[in-house]
Amino acid sequence: MAGTDAFIGLGSNLEEPSAQLARAVIALAALPKTELVAQSPFYRSRPVGPQDQPDFINGAVWIRTELSAIELLDELQAIEQNHGRERLQHWGPRTLDLDLLLYGMATLAEPRLSVPHPELPNRDFVLQPLLDLAPDLTLPDGAPIAELRARCPDNRLRRLDPIPRDPI
Ligand code: ADP
Ligand code: MG
Repeated sequence: MAGTDAFIGLGSNLEEPSAQLARAVIALAALPKTELVAQSPFYRSRPVGPQDQPDFINGAVWIRTELSAIELLDELQAIEQNHGRERLQHWGPRTLDLDLLLYGMATLAEPRLSVPHPELPNRDFVLQPLLDLAPDLTLPDGAPIAELRARCPDNRLRRLDPIPRDPI
């Protein structure tokens, strides 16, 4: 399929986070004009911001899409809503957070959408899954993800075992 390679960051720390992420991957794979290329392992991380909340589970997904960046953001927010997300507290607990990390080599600074995601270089729980998916990936400015990962603050990231699947 023609289209743009995009990377989505997934996070959850409420209501069975691993299951939330697994469902989100299925929803992303089902988006119109979009195919799933690969899914990263999941990681456990300490929360950013308020510490009186559960650990997060994070991961990333690589898709190829013919949606525009803003259409893709609309779809991500619709999936978040379907998962019952409520925006109560900035950087607070959430059932599902979907961030558009990279959209091809586009650089966007629109009111609703900054790409690459501005926090990307500061978050090991985003950089590590990206590195798992695409070790040679760079930002639009040429910065290698591997280099950013080596330099970013440590969030006590722990890789989870693969999710056990029921036999079909
Ligand atoms: P955060 O992910 O920083 O914890 P939210 O998920 O609540 O915060 O997002 C707040 C707003 O960020 C959204 O309404 C969205 O319009 C905006 N936003 C800007 N750039 C992006 C991006 N690259 N991916 C997702 N949301 C973004
Ligand atoms: Mg978000």
